[in-house]
Amino acid sequence: MPLGRKPFLFRFQNGQLKRIAFYTDCPHCAQEIRAAEKYMGAKVACKFCNGALQFVESIAMS
Ligand SMILES: [Zn+2]
Repeated sequence: MPLGRKPFLFRFQNGQLKRIAFYTDCPHCAQEIRAAEKYMGAKVACKFCNGALQFVESIAMS
């Protein structure tokens, strides 16, 4: 199950789009996880099941 397949969350800031967070499903417990963009590439633990996760950027940014 690829991580990061859901759209990133954007908001307008001075007319520009800015990525602030992203959503994915935990591969262990299938709970939806929202993570701040600063955690991209980081190894973290799922807050629901404590399973190990690493967020990877799998969506091509255009
Ligand atoms: Zn989990």
